[in-house]
Amino acid sequence: MRHFAVVGSGPAGFYTAEALEKAYGDNARIDILDRYPVPYGLIRFGVAPDHQSLKAVSKRYDKVAESSGVDFIGNVTIGRDVSVAELLDLYDAVVLATGAPHDRKLGVPGEDLAGVVGSAEFVGWYNGHPEFADLDPPLGGSHAIVVGNGNVALDCARILSKTRHEFEGSDIVGHALEALEHSRVRTITILGRRGPHQIAMTPKELGELGHLEDAVPVVETADFPPLGADEALDPGLRKSVSLLRGFADLPQDKTKQMVFDFFAKPVRIEGEGKVERVIVERTELDEKGAAKGTGQMYEVPASLVITAIGYSTSPIAEVPFEGGRFVNENGLIAERLYAVGWARRGPTGTIGTNRPDGYEVADQIAAAVPAGSNGERDGAAGLKRLLGSRGVMPTDYDDWRKIEETEVSRARPGSPREKFVRHEEWLRTIGR
Ligand SMILES: Cc1cc2nc3c(=O)[nH]c(=O)nc-3n(C[C@H](O)[C@H](O)[C@H](O)COP(=O)(O)OP(=O)(O)OC[C@H]3O[C@@H](n4cnc5c(N)ncnc54)[C@H](O)[C@@H]3O)c2cc1C
Repeated sequence: MRHFAVVGSGPAGFYTAEALEKAYGDNARIDILDRYPVPYGLIRFGVAPDHQSLKAVSKRYDKVAESSGVDFIGNVTIGRDVSVAELLDLYDAVVLATGAPHDRKLGVPGEDLAGVVGSAEFVGWYNGHPEFADLDPPLGGSHAIVVGNGNVALDCARILSKTRHEFEGSDIVGHALEALEHSRVRTITILGRRGPHQIAMTPKELGELGHLEDAVPVVETADFPPLGADEALDPGLRKSVSLLRGFADLPQDKTKQMVFDFFAKPVRIEGEGKVERVIVERTELDEKGAAKGTGQMYEVPASLVITAIGYSTSPIAEVPFEGGRFVNENGLIAERLYAVGWARRGPTGTIGTNRPDGYEVADQIAAAVPAGSNGERDGAAGLKRLLGSRGVMPTDYDDWRKIEETEVSRARPGSPREKFVRHEEWLRTIGR
């Protein structure tokens, strides 16, 4: 019998476990470990609460967790409760699928002022991440800024602009719903260093902005290259740019505006003890397509600034780390140690992009670790002994189901669940 540990229960971890199970059948046991008793990583804590059809991918992961060769072991933080070297002693191979949970910094003065938050914090706040339950973003001013030109920036802008009614059927947490309902934000400026042809926003997410109850997107036609230039774009990007161009024709008859400010680089954040404005430099594209400052400055008022410019992985002791992720070659970090998903590639791609990643690494493992055994490793039994000796109490998949059922049973009307937002609440629900 072979024993494999997959660290992280987000999409990359689950696809890897699924692939390992297919590769080894009954000849392996696969443990998916997570620091939380609740699985699915960013499916629970990142993907927007009003995108329930995407979150439904977790049903597929449930099937993996319920299969006979796979176990979910929660409430265990690798690097704190148990080291990677210890896991390598206990398992035939270890796969790090720990994602990229930290916001990249803008690197401008004033970034630490109150009211400037990273998208991981803001998104975690409305999605019930225990570390951000107390974020309390300032929503009392009329103007918010979202920095970034990807889908996460769009998620943040859309969530800021929706009505309570538009959250029906979502699993947004109660504290965020209440706060957003009383929000005074009326203008959300989305700052992008480059232009419409350089966005990383996809058509579905952009298309939604044209159909909001109280909010309308605003673009400046002068920011767009001539229409014919769109021909050279990839079809997906062409569609996105076409949707953006269409925003110029929308009637400006709503109470909230989402203003796309392209060629705009934040250079300084200012305010007395809290953010009041962002100083922005107008940019243009250089010959390589990078943003180049023009020296022309202006200010945009804001009492809330959300930076959505990318993420980095948490380092883990003794694992080589560089540029915000684990150093790896096609997923291989060191002998019997691998990385998948955002911990391997950085924060790009969709949920589905993590699937080929997981399958590729499982193939590599299958080639390096033949079924059968050269001396049995202890796997989960040894891990649980070690954790017990340290006073760490792991949770299992049944515990998660109990938490999930309780969340569903206490749901507000029109919501699929009312999430617990604190680690203690998860543990109390399972009698710890
Ligand atoms: C705000 C946001 C919105 C998104 N929306 C979409 C969308 O609409 N559609 C789409 O296709 N993609 C979306 N994505 C991208 C998608 O979420 C990612 O591609 C995917 O989650 C990456 O998977 P992962 O498994 O690498 O990481 P994660 O999903 O982050 O999972 C990592 C897991 O590792 C665990 N972990 C971390 N460190 C440790 C440790 N030391 N010990 C134990 N466990 C640990 C974490 O608790 C977590 O469960 C979104 C991303 C973000 C940030």
